[in-house]
Amino acid sequence: GPLPLSWNQTNLCRGFPGRKRSLRRKWRDPTSGCPEPSLLALGSEMSKLLIYDSARALHAAFLNGHHTAREIAACFLERIQKRDHALGAFLTVDEEQVLLQADAVDRKREAGEPVGALGGVPVAVKDNICTRNLKTTCASRILQRFVPAYDAHVVEQIRSADGIILGKTNLDEFAMGSSTEYSSFGPCRNPFDLKRVPGGSSGGSAASVAARLAPLALGTDTGGSVRQPAAFCGIPGLKPTYGRVSRFGVAAFASSLDQVGPMASNLDDLKMLYEVIAGRDRRDSTSRDVALARPMDPGSLRVGVLSLEGTGVQVEKPSMQAVEEVVALLETDGRSVERVEAPLWEHALSIYAVLSAAEASSNLARYDGLRYSSPPGEREGLKEHLLATREEGFGDEVARRILLGTFVLSHGYKERYYQRALDARRLLQEEFDRLFSHVDVLLTPTSPVAPFLLKERLDNPWEMLSGDYFTVPPSLAGLPALSIPVGLDSAGLPRAVQMVAPHWREEDLFALGRTLEEAVGTRPEPDFEREDRP
Ligand code: GLN
Repeated sequence: GPLPLSWNQTNLCRGFPGRKRSLRRKWRDPTSGCPEPSLLALGSEMSKLLIYDSARALHAAFLNGHHTAREIAACFLERIQKRDHALGAFLTVDEEQVLLQADAVDRKREAGEPVGALGGVPVAVKDNICTRNLKTTCASRILQRFVPAYDAHVVEQIRSADGIILGKTNLDEFAMGSSTEYSSFGPCRNPFDLKRVPGGSSGGSAASVAARLAPLALGTDTGGSVRQPAAFCGIPGLKPTYGRVSRFGVAAFASSLDQVGPMASNLDDLKMLYEVIAGRDRRDSTSRDVALARPMDPGSLRVGVLSLEGTGVQVEKPSMQAVEEVVALLETDGRSVERVEAPLWEHALSIYAVLSAAEASSNLARYDGLRYSSPPGEREGLKEHLLATREEGFGDEVARRILLGTFVLSHGYKERYYQRALDARRLLQEEFDRLFSHVDVLLTPTSPVAPFLLKERLDNPWEMLSGDYFTVPPSLAGLPALSIPVGLDSAGLPRAVQMVAPHWREEDLFALGRTLEEAVGTRPEPDFEREDRP
């Protein structure tokens, strides 16, 4: 049943003295994530084996007829049913739809028709990505009844590659946050320690992969929301180059920054999903078809490490050590690693706070109580309806950003804040251009801190955002960035490093990432996950 977690309601209200309404979080409808046991009746030995397979292995098992797509899907449904109570990774799982998709793919294979690159592999999808006939809430009350009539481009791509959409994962409301605690339907937890956050905003996607509730997952990343939760949950996560993946059907937060990104248990699986979602789509005019670049020989990649000297940023020891260990590893491998300075890096969070809020305030104007399923109830008139819908529908963090965004765009302040932030963003982009004239890959920690305790940062939006110190700057420059797990710290929590490359050079990240992956060995495994090991 629902977890007995009580929220500090006064803290949530801070900064909104006028906002009075019940802030008791509504917990997930406990039936929404729980498939009927009868549908899944399976030998549990089989499900134990399959959930530990890589996506690649599952696909192979499906192709050679070892397992049907239905069997594979049922294993993950059963695992979700058994384990997700403790985690809160999924908001919606429609087991019937899942099995219908699987049956269709099985029929295709049995008929001898060609099967796509994800044939038989289940994929969890963040709940701000539209899925046809499947609720898409953005973890917001304002969309709690929204059932899209269409699939996002990335979902279409997965379906046409014969992947199976497994369910919709938990997130911070409208992807605004770094811990998945700003979800209106209750937080998600970290499988390495259930008292801690999985990161965010794609926390549900990251936790589902780390806990083996799904072999693959999609997140979205505006300022770090794929990379930081991937780091917190000990799995790899990629934010592709801005424009690499179509945003059609993805609920817009900050359109000049938003990108969909893949998460998986290992880089090979991650790449499998990445290749399916990448590419131009005419419904997103910012998407482009740039050929996947041939990777450079990882041995010849020039690596730069971001120097933190003279900056005020507080980085916990394990995060710093992770980078130092990777540097040592690369150096023993005979590579020269250069320390690089990026003085404007420090201003990125301020730039991001202004620009992302400005874009969000404009993007969220579309939720007016008339479109996207309005809540029931009679209201006096149009204006009352609109005000009441937005007042009840948006959580405090979202409201805070709409207020901030409206302010920085308002007459008299636009030049002082929005325009200056745009100018500063351009300078930061030029700094990256200079940097990438002498290195090929830039190395930083992914997060300055380890996964923190639930509620620890909830009442302090700036502290929450400061965890994105390393992930935000590459986003502002539209650069691809990959977070790679590098083992556990002494407290048993995952540590990770971030690698950033020039535009369209994802392949270099994969190449260098693989070197690390091989050196580090298999990814760390939470205790949570071991419980079902045969
Ligand atoms: N944590 C950042 C924010 O709150 C980034 C979120 C994201 O990438 N979607 O805005």
